[in-house]
Amino acid sequence: MKQYTPDRVIFEPDALNYPLGRKLQNHFRSLGIKTIISSIHNVHRNIPGKNEKETYAAAKKTLVVRPKKSLSFDVCKPSADYEFPLVTNCPGSCEYCYLQTTQGKKPYLTVYVNIDEILAAVLKHIDKNNGQITTFEVASTGDPLSLEHLTGSLAKTIEFFGTLENGRLRVVTKFDNADPLLNLRHNGHTRFRVSINARYVIKNFEHNTASFDERIEEADKISSAGYPIGFIVAPIMVYEDWQMEYRELFDRLKSQVDVIKSGRPVTFELIQHRFTPIAKGFILNRFPNTKLDMDETRRSMKWGKYGKFKYVYPKETSQEIKEYISSLIYERFPAAQIDYFT
Ligand code: SF4
Repeated sequence: MKQYTPDRVIFEPDALNYPLGRKLQNHFRSLGIKTIISSIHNVHRNIPGKNEKETYAAAKKTLVVRPKKSLSFDVCKPSADYEFPLVTNCPGSCEYCYLQTTQGKKPYLTVYVNIDEILAAVLKHIDKNNGQITTFEVASTGDPLSLEHLTGSLAKTIEFFGTLENGRLRVVTKFDNADPLLNLRHNGHTRFRVSINARYVIKNFEHNTASFDERIEEADKISSAGYPIGFIVAPIMVYEDWQMEYRELFDRLKSQVDVIKSGRPVTFELIQHRFTPIAKGFILNRFPNTKLDMDETRRSMKWGKYGKFKYVYPKETSQEIKEYISSLIYERFPAAQIDYFT
């Protein structure tokens, strides 16, 4: 798919103290793309748009370049011990994306330029873990592969983890930009999980991301390069032909991804669709013709921390999804491991 180019790039002044910040400034200036130096507090003023739909589109074409200030990483259960970002957000426009809500009205993209400081913080977190293997998720707030052609940061991080005895990296992607990563010295320490879904979900809700076929081809390339491979199936949705289409998905994985054919272990993470009332508001403003099923009367409320709740599938539907998808996986990949279903 076509690689992302922003319409405007905003540099925090500190970003230019780092080689990657200066490299990006030169790169975008040479392309004639508008570059602005601004404090992070004023970023919103530089993103145009007369209404929610326009500002959303403009935010997605706005790239902020800055150092990552907090280097104390959050816990990232169930997928890893900790998470750290190389980027926030991505050029895709998945209608259900949780960043719709967490980033508010102007969900711009960010790349972090202090990569050496971030990697030094990784070592500190490993040191605290008494010689145990420590896992790090690098894609919980965005898709680092989607901006890799600009930064090269993921390649650097993968090679760094390749040298670590007790550190393991986990990456998730919906993009097909992995070519520059295929010949890295990863030492099997980075697990890629390709985010996959039924055709209907990718086509209708995951705009500006790799297609169903591109993702399967990408999974084959990445796993053939020796990376441990896994799949995140999310969000799993129930619609008219859901059973038939999820069956097609797992059949295609089985027939097209060579390492799975050879019986190498593969992991699956399964996440059902859910939404919050705030997310529904954002989604309806940005995608007025959305086909996303957000009918509260057909969902159950799941309460979380601080009195917040989400709408999830009712227990019987959830159980049906779990049993059906698990059986599709185990019938085709007896050596597979389902890490979690949520
Ligand atoms: S690819 Fe991931 S981060 Fe990007 S819009 Fe879709 S869900 Fe959000």
